[in-house]
Amino acid sequence: MHHFEYRDGILSAEEVSVTALAEEYGTPLYIYSAATLRRHFKAFDSAFNELDHLTCYSIKANSNLAVLKLLAAEGAGMDIVSGGELYRALKAGVTPEKIVYSGVGKRDSEIREALEAGILMFNVESVAELKRINTVASDMGMTAKVSFRINPDVDPQTHPYISTGMQENKFGLDIENSLAAYTLAAELENVEPVGMDCHIGSQLTKIDPFLEALDKLLDFNEKLKGLGINIKYLDLGGGLGIPYDKEEPPHPSEFGKALSAKLKGLPLKVIFEPGRVIAGNAGIMVTQVVYTKSNPTKNFLIVDAAMNDLIRPSLYGSYHRIGEVELKGRQHQRFDVVGPICESGDFLARDRELPTVDQGERLVVYSAGAYGFTMASNYNTRPRACELLVDGSNVTVARKRETYEDLIANEL
Ligand SMILES: *Cc1c(COP(=O)(O)O)cnc(C)c1O
Repeated sequence: MHHFEYRDGILSAEEVSVTALAEEYGTPLYIYSAATLRRHFKAFDSAFNELDHLTCYSIKANSNLAVLKLLAAEGAGMDIVSGGELYRALKAGVTPEKIVYSGVGKRDSEIREALEAGILMFNVESVAELKRINTVASDMGMTAKVSFRINPDVDPQTHPYISTGMQENKFGLDIENSLAAYTLAAELENVEPVGMDCHIGSQLTKIDPFLEALDKLLDFNEKLKGLGINIKYLDLGGGLGIPYDKEEPPHPSEFGKALSAKLKGLPLKVIFEPGRVIAGNAGIMVTQVVYTKSNPTKNFLIVDAAMNDLIRPSLYGSYHRIGEVELKGRQHQRFDVVGPICESGDFLARDRELPTVDQGERLVVYSAGAYGFTMASNYNTRPRACELLVDGSNVTVARKRETYEDLIANEL
Protein backbone atom coordinates (compact mmCIF):
# COMPACT_ATOMS: atom_id res chain seq x y z
CA MET A 1 0.00 0.00 0.00
CA HIS A 2 1.25 3.43 -0.87
CA HIS A 3 -0.05 6.94 -1.40
CA PHE A 4 0.73 7.48 -5.09
CA GLU A 5 -2.58 7.48 -6.90
CA TYR A 6 -4.15 9.04 -9.96
CA ARG A 7 -6.55 11.87 -9.36
CA ASP A 8 -8.46 13.04 -12.42
CA GLY A 9 -5.89 11.30 -14.55
CA ILE A 10 -2.86 12.90 -12.93
CA LEU A 11 -0.57 11.05 -10.57
CA SER A 12 -0.49 12.50 -7.10
CA ALA A 13 1.89 12.02 -4.22
CA GLU A 14 -0.49 12.16 -1.25
CA GLU A 15 -2.27 15.50 -1.81
CA VAL A 16 0.14 16.93 -4.36
CA SER A 17 0.18 16.68 -8.15
CA VAL A 18 3.31 14.98 -9.44
CA THR A 19 3.14 17.09 -12.60
CA ALA A 20 3.26 20.23 -10.47
CA LEU A 21 6.22 18.87 -8.50
CA ALA A 22 8.12 17.91 -11.64
CA GLU A 23 7.49 21.37 -13.10
CA GLU A 24 8.72 23.08 -9.97
CA TYR A 25 11.68 20.87 -9.06
CA GLY A 26 12.67 19.36 -12.41
CA THR A 27 13.52 15.77 -13.26
CA PRO A 28 14.86 13.23 -12.50
CA LEU A 29 13.07 13.63 -9.21
CA TYR A 30 12.66 11.33 -6.23
CA ILE A 31 9.44 11.77 -4.26
CA TYR A 32 8.87 10.04 -0.92
CA SER A 33 5.51 9.79 0.83
CA ALA A 34 5.63 10.44 4.57
CA ALA A 35 2.26 8.75 5.17
CA THR A 36 3.50 5.63 3.39
CA LEU A 37 6.73 5.55 5.39
CA ARG A 38 4.79 5.85 8.65
CA ARG A 39 2.28 3.28 7.58
CA HIS A 40 4.94 0.77 6.57
CA PHE A 41 6.90 1.29 9.75
CA LYS A 42 3.79 0.81 11.91
CA ALA A 43 2.62 -2.22 9.96
CA PHE A 44 6.03 -3.82 10.40
CA ASP A 45 6.70 -2.84 13.99
CA SER A 46 3.23 -3.71 15.28
CA ALA A 47 3.43 -7.17 13.70
CA PHE A 48 5.77 -8.15 16.55
CA ASN A 49 3.82 -6.64 19.41
CA GLU A 50 3.63 -9.99 21.14
CA LEU A 51 7.40 -10.03 21.43
CA ASP A 52 9.83 -7.80 23.27
CA HIS A 53 11.39 -6.23 20.19
CA LEU A 54 13.13 -3.28 18.57
CA THR A 55 12.78 -2.34 14.91
CA CYS A 56 16.05 -0.88 13.61
CA TYR A 57 15.45 0.60 10.17
CA SER A 58 18.32 -0.24 7.84
CA ILE A 59 19.70 3.13 6.85
CA LYS A 60 21.34 2.01 3.65
CA ALA A 61 17.95 1.51 1.97
CA ASN A 62 17.21 5.24 2.09
CA SER A 63 19.44 7.39 4.24
CA ASN A 64 17.98 10.84 3.64
CA LEU A 65 17.91 12.75 6.94
CA ALA A 66 14.26 13.66 6.46
CA VAL A 67 13.39 9.98 6.19
CA LEU A 68 15.53 9.07 9.20
CA LYS A 69 13.98 11.84 11.30
CA LEU A 70 10.49 10.74 10.39
CA LEU A 71 11.19 7.13 11.32
CA ALA A 72 13.06 8.07 14.50
CA ALA A 73 9.98 10.05 15.53
CA GLU A 74 7.95 6.86 15.07
CA GLY A 75 10.27 5.15 17.55
CA ALA A 76 12.56 3.38 15.10
CA GLY A 77 16.07 2.38 15.99
CA MET A 78 18.61 2.15 13.17
CA ASP A 79 20.84 -0.46 11.62
CA ILE A 80 24.03 1.13 10.33
CA VAL A 81 26.85 -0.26 8.17
CA SER A 82 29.36 2.62 8.23
CA GLY A 83 30.63 5.56 10.22
CA GLY A 84 28.82 7.78 7.75
CA GLU A 85 25.52 6.13 8.55
CA LEU A 86 26.23 6.53 12.27
CA TYR A 87 26.79 10.23 11.63
CA ARG A 88 23.48 10.46 9.80
CA ALA A 89 21.62 8.55 12.51
CA LEU A 90 22.94 10.84 15.24
CA LYS A 91 22.18 13.94 13.15
CA ALA A 92 18.63 12.66 12.74
CA GLY A 93 18.28 12.43 16.51
CA VAL A 94 18.17 8.64 16.76
CA THR A 95 18.71 7.33 20.29
CA PRO A 96 22.22 5.75 20.30
CA GLU A 97 20.97 2.86 22.45
CA LYS A 98 18.77 1.92 19.51
CA ILE A 99 21.59 1.65 16.98
CA VAL A 100 23.11 -1.64 15.86
CA TYR A 101 26.21 -1.69 13.68
CA SER A 102 26.61 -4.36 10.99
CA GLY A 103 29.15 -4.79 8.19
CA VAL A 104 32.25 -6.87 7.40
CA GLY A 105 34.84 -4.10 7.25
CA LYS A 106 34.51 -1.77 10.22
CA ARG A 107 37.62 0.40 10.56
CA ASP A 108 39.21 1.47 13.86
CA SER A 109 37.92 5.03 13.51
CA GLU A 110 34.40 3.77 12.88
CA ILE A 111 34.54 1.45 15.88
CA ARG A 112 35.74 4.32 18.04
CA GLU A 113 32.96 6.61 16.83
CA ALA A 114 30.34 3.97 17.58
CA LEU A 115 31.74 3.38 21.08
CA GLU A 116 31.82 7.11 21.73
CA ALA A 117 28.19 7.38 20.65
CA GLY A 118 27.15 4.51 22.94
CA ILE A 119 25.42 2.27 20.40
CA LEU A 120 23.47 -0.81 21.48
CA MET A 121 25.80 -3.37 19.93
CA PHE A 122 28.18 -4.33 17.15
CA ASN A 123 27.15 -7.15 14.86
CA VAL A 124 30.59 -8.71 14.49
CA GLU A 125 31.37 -10.55 11.27
CA SER A 126 34.81 -12.09 11.94
CA VAL A 127 37.18 -13.06 14.74
CA ALA A 128 39.64 -10.47 13.45
CA GLU A 129 36.97 -7.81 13.89
CA LEU A 130 36.20 -9.02 17.41
CA LYS A 131 39.85 -8.63 18.37
CA ARG A 132 39.96 -5.19 16.80
CA ILE A 133 36.88 -4.06 18.69
CA ASN A 134 38.38 -5.40 21.90
CA THR A 135 41.59 -3.43 21.29
CA VAL A 136 39.82 -0.19 20.45
CA ALA A 137 37.48 -0.55 23.43
CA SER A 138 40.45 -1.30 25.68
CA ASP A 139 42.24 1.86 24.48
CA MET A 140 39.13 3.81 25.37
CA GLY A 141 38.65 2.09 28.71
CA MET A 142 35.29 0.75 27.62
CA THR A 143 33.48 -2.54 27.11
CA ALA A 144 31.86 -3.08 23.73
CA LYS A 145 28.63 -5.04 23.51
CA VAL A 146 28.80 -7.47 20.64
CA SER A 147 26.76 -10.04 18.85
CA PHE A 148 28.05 -12.28 16.11
CA ARG A 149 26.54 -12.37 12.71
CA ILE A 150 25.98 -16.05 12.19
CA ASN A 151 25.76 -17.40 8.71
CA PRO A 152 23.07 -20.08 8.97
CA ASP A 153 23.75 -21.37 5.43
CA VAL A 154 20.17 -20.92 4.32
CA ASP A 155 19.18 -20.23 0.74
CA PRO A 156 16.93 -17.16 0.77
CA GLN A 157 15.84 -17.83 -2.82
CA THR A 158 16.59 -14.33 -3.99
CA HIS A 159 19.04 -12.64 -6.39
CA PRO A 160 22.62 -13.86 -5.78
CA TYR A 161 23.90 -10.29 -5.24
CA ILE A 162 21.47 -9.77 -2.36
CA SER A 163 21.74 -13.26 -0.91
CA THR A 164 23.98 -13.04 2.13
CA GLY A 165 23.40 -16.01 4.39
CA MET A 166 24.97 -18.86 2.44
CA GLN A 167 28.33 -20.43 3.15
CA GLU A 168 29.94 -18.91 0.05
CA ASN A 169 29.04 -15.32 1.06
CA LYS A 170 31.53 -12.98 2.67
CA PHE A 171 29.16 -12.20 5.53
CA GLY A 172 29.19 -13.46 9.08
CA LEU A 173 30.68 -16.56 10.66
CA ASP A 174 29.66 -20.11 9.92
CA ILE A 175 27.96 -21.91 12.78
CA GLU A 176 30.94 -24.17 13.52
CA ASN A 177 33.35 -21.27 13.99
CA SER A 178 30.81 -19.18 15.86
CA LEU A 179 31.08 -21.21 19.04
CA ALA A 180 34.82 -20.56 19.28
CA ALA A 181 34.18 -16.88 18.57
CA TYR A 182 31.73 -16.59 21.46
CA THR A 183 34.14 -18.40 23.75
CA LEU A 184 36.85 -15.94 22.81
CA ALA A 185 34.48 -13.00 23.27
CA ALA A 186 33.64 -14.24 26.76
CA GLU A 187 37.36 -14.38 27.59
CA LEU A 188 38.37 -10.98 26.20
CA GLU A 189 38.31 -8.13 28.70
CA ASN A 190 36.72 -5.37 26.68
CA VAL A 191 33.93 -7.06 24.80
CA GLU A 192 30.75 -8.57 26.11
CA PRO A 193 28.74 -11.01 23.99
CA VAL A 194 25.11 -9.92 24.31
CA GLY A 195 23.45 -11.12 21.14
CA MET A 196 23.14 -13.34 18.09
CA ASP A 197 22.55 -11.91 14.65
CA CYS A 198 21.78 -13.05 11.14
CA HIS A 199 20.74 -11.37 7.92
CA ILE A 200 20.28 -13.89 5.16
CA GLY A 201 19.42 -11.68 2.22
CA SER A 202 17.11 -9.13 0.75
CA GLN A 203 13.83 -9.14 -1.17
CA LEU A 204 12.73 -12.46 0.35
CA THR A 205 9.24 -13.39 -0.75
CA LYS A 206 8.80 -16.37 1.56
CA ILE A 207 8.92 -16.78 5.31
CA ASP A 208 10.41 -20.27 5.34
CA PRO A 209 14.07 -19.23 4.92
CA PHE A 210 13.69 -16.86 7.90
CA LEU A 211 12.23 -19.62 10.04
CA GLU A 212 14.90 -22.06 8.94
CA ALA A 213 17.57 -19.56 9.95
CA LEU A 214 15.79 -18.90 13.24
CA ASP A 215 15.70 -22.61 14.11
CA LYS A 216 19.44 -22.84 13.53
CA LEU A 217 20.06 -19.82 15.72
CA LEU A 218 17.86 -21.16 18.51
CA ASP A 219 19.71 -24.49 18.41
CA PHE A 220 22.94 -22.59 18.56
CA ASN A 221 21.69 -20.59 21.52
CA GLU A 222 21.29 -23.85 23.44
CA LYS A 223 24.96 -24.58 22.82
CA LEU A 224 25.86 -21.12 24.03
CA LYS A 225 23.90 -21.66 27.22
CA GLY A 226 25.83 -24.88 27.68
CA LEU A 227 28.99 -22.77 27.70
CA GLY A 228 27.47 -20.45 30.27
CA ILE A 229 26.99 -17.66 27.73
CA ASN A 230 23.56 -16.11 28.07
CA ILE A 231 22.69 -13.68 25.37
CA LYS A 232 19.87 -11.18 25.45
CA TYR A 233 19.36 -10.02 21.88
CA LEU A 234 18.31 -12.02 18.87
CA ASP A 235 18.77 -9.92 15.74
CA LEU A 236 17.02 -11.43 12.74
CA GLY A 237 18.20 -8.84 10.24
CA GLY A 238 16.10 -7.44 7.44
CA GLY A 239 15.18 -8.83 4.09
CA LEU A 240 11.42 -8.95 3.85
CA GLY A 241 10.51 -8.38 0.21
CA ILE A 242 8.07 -6.02 -1.45
CA PRO A 243 5.91 -6.26 -4.56
CA TYR A 244 7.80 -4.66 -7.44
CA ASP A 245 5.81 -6.57 -10.02
CA LYS A 246 3.82 -9.72 -9.36
CA GLU A 247 5.67 -10.89 -6.26
CA GLU A 248 3.44 -11.63 -3.31
CA PRO A 249 5.69 -11.34 -0.28
CA PRO A 250 4.18 -12.22 3.08
CA HIS A 251 2.63 -9.39 5.05
CA PRO A 252 4.68 -8.52 8.15
CA SER A 253 1.76 -9.70 10.29
CA GLU A 254 2.19 -13.20 8.88
CA PHE A 255 5.89 -13.06 9.70
CA GLY A 256 4.99 -11.75 13.16
CA LYS A 257 2.62 -14.62 13.84
CA ALA A 258 5.14 -17.24 12.78
CA LEU A 259 7.84 -15.68 14.94
CA SER A 260 5.62 -15.22 17.96
CA ALA A 261 4.79 -18.91 17.83
CA LYS A 262 8.49 -19.77 18.03
CA LEU A 263 9.77 -17.06 20.35
CA LYS A 264 7.03 -16.16 22.78
CA GLY A 265 8.12 -16.59 26.37
CA LEU A 266 11.82 -16.85 25.57
CA PRO A 267 13.96 -14.33 27.46
CA LEU A 268 15.19 -12.71 24.26
CA LYS A 269 14.67 -9.26 22.85
CA VAL A 270 14.19 -9.57 19.12
CA ILE A 271 15.76 -6.99 16.81
CA PHE A 272 14.75 -6.44 13.20
CA GLU A 273 16.61 -4.53 10.52
CA PRO A 274 14.05 -3.86 7.78
CA GLY A 275 14.99 -1.50 4.98
CA ARG A 276 13.27 -2.20 1.69
CA VAL A 277 9.92 -3.14 3.21
CA ILE A 278 9.72 0.26 4.91
CA ALA A 279 11.07 2.54 2.19
CA GLY A 280 10.79 0.71 -1.14
CA ASN A 281 7.22 1.46 -2.07
CA ALA A 282 7.22 4.78 -0.22
CA GLY A 283 9.15 6.40 -3.05
CA ILE A 284 8.87 7.04 -6.77
CA MET A 285 11.23 8.49 -9.31
CA VAL A 286 9.89 10.83 -11.96
CA THR A 287 11.64 11.19 -15.28
CA GLN A 288 11.01 13.02 -18.53
CA VAL A 289 11.24 11.59 -22.02
CA VAL A 290 14.04 13.45 -23.81
CA TYR A 291 13.74 11.66 -27.15
CA THR A 292 11.87 8.81 -28.73
CA LYS A 293 13.72 6.69 -31.25
CA SER A 294 13.03 3.52 -33.21
CA ASN A 295 15.17 1.14 -35.18
CA PRO A 296 13.99 -1.90 -37.15
CA THR A 297 13.81 -4.05 -34.01
CA LYS A 298 13.24 -1.71 -31.08
CA ASN A 299 11.48 1.37 -29.83
CA PHE A 300 13.36 3.44 -27.33
CA LEU A 301 12.23 5.98 -24.81
CA ILE A 302 15.35 7.94 -23.95
CA VAL A 303 14.66 9.51 -20.58
CA ASP A 304 16.54 11.95 -18.37
CA ALA A 305 17.05 9.44 -15.53
CA ALA A 306 19.82 6.89 -15.86
CA MET A 307 21.66 4.10 -14.10
CA ASN A 308 23.49 6.70 -12.04
CA ASP A 309 20.11 7.71 -10.57
CA LEU A 310 18.60 4.24 -10.20
CA ILE A 311 21.01 1.38 -10.72
CA ARG A 312 18.83 -1.56 -9.72
CA PRO A 313 17.72 -2.55 -13.24
CA SER A 314 21.32 -2.41 -14.51
CA LEU A 315 22.90 -4.07 -11.46
CA TYR A 316 20.40 -6.80 -10.65
CA GLY A 317 18.15 -6.87 -13.71
CA SER A 318 15.45 -5.64 -11.34
CA TYR A 319 11.94 -4.87 -12.45
CA HIS A 320 10.49 -1.47 -11.63
CA ARG A 321 6.94 -0.77 -12.68
CA ILE A 322 6.76 2.26 -14.98
CA GLY A 323 3.72 4.31 -15.84
CA GLU A 324 2.71 7.66 -17.24
CA VAL A 325 2.36 10.64 -14.92
CA GLU A 326 -0.70 11.81 -16.87
CA LEU A 327 -3.16 9.23 -18.14
CA LYS A 328 -4.13 9.98 -21.71
CA GLY A 329 -5.69 6.73 -22.95
CA ARG A 330 -2.73 6.10 -25.24
CA GLN A 331 -1.97 3.05 -27.35
CA HIS A 332 0.59 0.66 -25.91
CA GLN A 333 3.83 -0.39 -27.55
CA ARG A 334 6.98 -2.24 -26.53
CA PHE A 335 9.84 0.01 -25.46
CA ASP A 336 13.27 -0.06 -23.96
CA VAL A 337 13.42 2.77 -21.45
CA VAL A 338 17.02 3.94 -21.44
CA GLY A 339 19.07 6.75 -19.95
CA PRO A 340 21.68 9.06 -21.44
CA ILE A 341 24.69 7.25 -19.96
CA CYS A 342 27.30 5.78 -22.29
CA GLU A 343 26.75 2.14 -21.32
CA SER A 344 24.50 -0.41 -23.00
CA GLY A 345 23.65 -1.56 -19.48
CA ASP A 346 22.03 1.79 -18.81
CA PHE A 347 18.34 1.01 -18.84
CA LEU A 348 15.33 1.29 -16.56
CA ALA A 349 13.24 -1.28 -18.43
CA ARG A 350 13.62 -3.55 -21.42
CA ASP A 351 10.98 -4.77 -23.82
CA ARG A 352 8.28 -3.25 -21.69
CA GLU A 353 4.75 -2.67 -22.88
CA LEU A 354 4.09 0.99 -22.14
CA PRO A 355 1.82 3.81 -23.26
CA THR A 356 3.28 5.60 -26.26
CA VAL A 357 4.31 8.77 -24.50
CA ASP A 358 5.79 11.63 -26.49
CA GLN A 359 8.98 13.58 -26.07
CA GLY A 360 8.66 16.00 -23.18
CA GLU A 361 6.13 13.86 -21.31
CA ARG A 362 6.86 12.26 -17.97
CA LEU A 363 7.04 8.75 -16.64
CA VAL A 364 6.91 7.49 -13.09
CA VAL A 365 9.18 4.69 -11.90
CA TYR A 366 7.62 2.97 -8.89
CA SER A 367 9.21 1.24 -5.90
CA ALA A 368 12.17 3.59 -6.00
CA GLY A 369 12.23 4.50 -2.30
CA ALA A 370 14.81 1.89 -1.30
CA TYR A 371 18.23 1.37 -2.89
CA GLY A 372 17.38 4.15 -5.32
CA PHE A 373 18.97 7.44 -4.37
CA THR A 374 21.32 5.78 -1.86
CA MET A 375 22.99 3.91 -4.72
CA ALA A 376 23.12 6.95 -6.99
CA SER A 377 26.44 8.18 -8.36
CA ASN A 378 27.78 11.03 -10.43
CA TYR A 379 28.84 8.80 -13.32
CA ASN A 380 29.03 10.76 -16.57
CA THR A 381 29.28 13.87 -14.36
CA ARG A 382 25.56 13.88 -13.78
CA PRO A 383 24.36 15.84 -10.75
CA ARG A 384 22.35 13.66 -8.41
CA ALA A 385 18.59 14.16 -8.42
CA CYS A 386 16.46 16.23 -6.07
CA GLU A 387 14.63 14.36 -3.30
CA LEU A 388 11.28 15.54 -1.97
CA LEU A 389 9.31 14.40 1.04
CA VAL A 390 5.57 14.91 0.69
CA ASP A 391 3.43 14.83 3.82
CA GLY A 392 -0.23 15.46 3.01
CA SER A 393 -0.12 18.70 1.05
CA ASN A 394 3.21 19.68 2.58
CA VAL A 395 6.31 19.43 0.37
CA THR A 396 9.82 19.47 1.82
CA VAL A 397 12.99 19.50 -0.25
CA ALA A 398 14.73 16.61 1.47
CA ARG A 399 17.82 17.09 -0.70
CA LYS A 400 18.49 19.78 -3.26
CA ARG A 401 19.44 18.78 -6.76
CA GLU A 402 23.21 18.86 -7.09
CA THR A 403 24.75 21.64 -9.17
CA TYR A 404 27.75 21.49 -11.49
CA GLU A 405 29.70 23.35 -8.79
CA ASP A 406 28.83 20.61 -6.28
CA LEU A 407 30.28 18.06 -8.67
CA ILE A 408 33.77 19.60 -8.66
CA ALA A 409 33.72 21.15 -5.18
CA ASN A 410 36.27 18.70 -3.73
CA GLU A 411 38.59 18.66 -6.71
CA LEU A 412 41.77 20.72 -6.86
C1 LIG B 1 20.87 -4.38 3.79
C2 LIG B 1 20.76 -4.90 5.14
C3 LIG B 1 19.52 -4.90 5.81
C4 LIG B 1 18.25 -4.44 5.16
O1 LIG B 1 17.82 -5.30 4.17
P1 LIG B 1 16.38 -5.10 3.49
O2 LIG B 1 16.31 -6.19 2.52
O3 LIG B 1 16.39 -3.76 2.85
O4 LIG B 1 15.36 -5.21 4.56
C5 LIG B 1 19.49 -5.34 7.12
N1 LIG B 1 20.60 -5.79 7.74
C6 LIG B 1 21.80 -5.80 7.13
C7 LIG B 1 22.98 -6.29 7.87
C8 LIG B 1 21.92 -5.37 5.82
O5 LIG B 1 23.12 -5.41 5.22
